[in-house]
Amino acid sequence: MDKHVNINVKCIKCGKSLMDHQNMINNMPSIALNIGFNDKSGKIWLCSNYGCYEHKKNIEIPDKEIVNFYCPHCEEFLNSNIKCKACEAPMVKFNIDIGGVVSICSRKGCNNHYVMFEDLTAAISRFHRAYGM
Ligand SMILES: [Zn+2]
Ligand SMILES: [Zn+2]
Repeated sequence: MDKHVNINVKCIKCGKSLMDHQNMINNMPSIALNIGFNDKSGKIWLCSNYGCYEHKKNIEIPDKEIVNFYCPHCEEFLNSNIKCKACEAPMVKFNIDIGGVVSICSRKGCNNHYVMFEDLTAAISRFHRAYGM
């Protein structure tokens, strides 16, 4: 990885930060979420680097499974009714602390997974304004 764009996200329902400073991935705080599928539940930690697919979790998820995401603070269900363009699973949305939205696909193994901006150009210009890059 050459250029790091690290994003800090908040719950779209309660506005609390989802960043977990106890569980670092690539030396950065991870994005912590509660997850579930069928009758199982657990936690997942996503890398907060834009474009990075690394993550860790404390339950096994079968490939292609659609995972339910929940806020660890307000416990609201975060899967939206917006469908992934690649696989039609629900997308999960988060607010970025400096503005903008990030969506991830809820299906394990989908390429649309994890951190991506809906509008990268607008997001990058916000980073420029926020950090003077
Ligand atoms: Zn919440
Ligand atoms: Zn997908």
